[in-house]
Amino acid sequence: ALALFSQNASAQKKSKKVIKRNPIEQRVDSILKLMTLEEKVGQMNQYNGFWEVTGPAPKDGQAAKKYDHLKKGLVGSMLNVVGVKDVKALQKIAVEETRLGIPLIFGYDVIHGYQTISPVPLAEAASWDLEAIKKSAALAAEEAAAVGLNWTFAPMVDISRDARWGRVMEGAGEDTYLGSKIGVARVQGFQGENFSSYKNILACAKHFAGYGFAESGRDYNSADVNHSTLHNIILPPFKAVKDAGVRTFMNSFNELDGIPATGNKYLQRDLLKGEWNFTGFMVSDWGSMGEMIAHGYAKDNKHAAELAANAGSDMDMESNVYVEYLVELVKEGKVKQEVIDDAARRILRVKFELGLFDDPYKYCDEKREKATLGNAVMHEGVLDMAKKSIVLLKNQNNLLPLKKSGQKIAVIGALANDKSSPLGGWRGVSKDGSAVSVIEGLQKYKGNEIVYEKGADVYLGTPVFGLETKINTTDKSGFDKAVATAKNADVVIMVLGEVGFQTGEGRSRTNLDLPGVQQELLEAVFNANPNIVLVLNNGRPLTITWADENIPAIVEAWQLGTQSGNAIAQVLYGDYNPSGKLPMTFPRSVGQVPIYYNQKTTGRPGPGGESVFWSHFIDEKNTPLYPFGYGLSYSKFEYSDLKVSNTSFTADGKITVSVNVKNNSNVEGKEVVQMYLKDLFGSVTRPVRELKGFELVSLKANETKTVTFTIDSKLIEFYTANNKWEAEPGDFKVFIGGSSDATLEGSFEYKG
Ligand code: BGC
Repeated sequence: ALALFSQNASAQKKSKKVIKRNPIEQRVDSILKLMTLEEKVGQMNQYNGFWEVTGPAPKDGQAAKKYDHLKKGLVGSMLNVVGVKDVKALQKIAVEETRLGIPLIFGYDVIHGYQTISPVPLAEAASWDLEAIKKSAALAAEEAAAVGLNWTFAPMVDISRDARWGRVMEGAGEDTYLGSKIGVARVQGFQGENFSSYKNILACAKHFAGYGFAESGRDYNSADVNHSTLHNIILPPFKAVKDAGVRTFMNSFNELDGIPATGNKYLQRDLLKGEWNFTGFMVSDWGSMGEMIAHGYAKDNKHAAELAANAGSDMDMESNVYVEYLVELVKEGKVKQEVIDDAARRILRVKFELGLFDDPYKYCDEKREKATLGNAVMHEGVLDMAKKSIVLLKNQNNLLPLKKSGQKIAVIGALANDKSSPLGGWRGVSKDGSAVSVIEGLQKYKGNEIVYEKGADVYLGTPVFGLETKINTTDKSGFDKAVATAKNADVVIMVLGEVGFQTGEGRSRTNLDLPGVQQELLEAVFNANPNIVLVLNNGRPLTITWADENIPAIVEAWQLGTQSGNAIAQVLYGDYNPSGKLPMTFPRSVGQVPIYYNQKTTGRPGPGGESVFWSHFIDEKNTPLYPFGYGLSYSKFEYSDLKVSNTSFTADGKITVSVNVKNNSNVEGKEVVQMYLKDLFGSVTRPVRELKGFELVSLKANETKTVTFTIDSKLIEFYTANNKWEAEPGDFKVFIGGSSDATLEGSFEYKG
């Protein structure tokens, strides 16, 4: 129970009485009635951890001011404060020392784990395994909740078609359908059914909206997006997670249609809170209210506060403009009292839903913290997810899986011995060097002799925002030793790619090649011994065109988190049969970017032969190196007998499409069976094909299964020229197969 003391006691007693007995909306009303305008604005203010909680209270400067705000009830949430001890200490100030005792919520970027790190989100997306992804989010939530956190700034549901953008590692890739399903799985994992369990925390759908379309992939750049793309491609994952109950949204840094997202009333107030009826709250991105000045949209901080509040941003992350100016703005009539009431209501509502008014220390249990952080369940979870995230890109002559004994294996590349890079960007509080390296993973298999040679570094130091190309390594002095080692080996495993911080926020690239001298190293080793398994560690698609033409086996192992090396070794040795499929197209050349499978046809679609006028390059093919949805297995899957149940259906009807999938091998495996639709004409032009269904199927050796998909009018809806989601009558093609290149096809008509 809370100690009631000081001059706040009577107000606190009153507030506690009203909040104990009523359903949430009434309890929110009762609290709101007790609040001053300042206190309501206080709920809309979020501060980054500003003070070493274990040290003495700050006496002067910014920290002292923030501390004072905290005690006056002028802070609604904190971010980047972790650990039960600190969270509890701050919560104690909020509930015991402020006039009304309203608890804080504590946010943190739990993007792919808090301390025990799972694969980067793009890698997890490659599993196409919604149950596994949900479980991964649930474990991350459990670990975060154990250290006092109750809000993660995830999932990022931005669709990303441009691999130059560093944050592609943080999303589910290029596809709206897959991205929606994965976003929902993540929200369900983080939030659970409701917040009755201390293991579940608030999720946050970000970045609303268009952030993934930053021009030329340069982070924070403007997004130039047309109406149809906004509604058909960018918004659906946000709508899907909203429908799945995500309780918070984050807006974004970019401008959209000339208006910064943070000040965008259409997006936040009209669409999300209006048409979509979202009842949770919207937090700004870090400092994004203040950034509206640099955008040339706001005159000054005060104007930024006015624009953001009126547009529907409920909480200010680190611009400090709400706490400074909102009260004044209300008094001047520039922001209506209702705007403040609405924002405060939304934030309080979510705090009630979390159960913080009933127990503000719900997430503060030292015993649980100790028992949960980095426990065996966490490690098993991230290992399982890591194996499921690996994509086999090439496997000529069945070089993989490796023989378990009698082999001399040369392992080459700095990333093979790197215990930090697999943690990727947004690595929570995991310690540098805490990941299992590829070498360590391989060494668990004792039957073979392993010799390691670095060859070359990838990168010197830690890439910081904006400096990537300046410090790629040029030192080739280790090449000779690597080449000599490779010469004497039966098999060479080369681990190449990007270091952990070469992707992520602010890490845009103009090249998508293997950074530094790695390509040269690969070619030098290849000349000595072509029997190479290339293991890629990276957070974005890379243009490994030469490797695809020359190297017999290629494994996309992304940045797989804490258990990376173990997962990779188990796949290389065949103790785990890979089943991942690419969630983003791999280009042949960076000049093809943005390249994505669900492009528009154009009036000159090619693929040529008949005319030189088709849309093409004169120096590169149109096709990608590896298409969306592509990935191999140690099993061999064959598709046949595509059957469409009827030639047509109507608005209240449906049809089914089925296909036989055979595992024509002696190895049990899993295959992601994918269904794509092509809408032949529409009131706005339609993509060449769109993913509209998938199923992860397990097949024993030589087993055949029939996989069936249902198609109804809901599934063929799109945002039409009428500015609404509807199904238009017309002709369709359906394709089923193991990638977006699926060739088995059928057709049907939708009669409306
Ligand atoms: C990022 C957000 C993140 C926030 C808080 C921003 O720079 O864009 O995605 O949640 O920082 O760390």
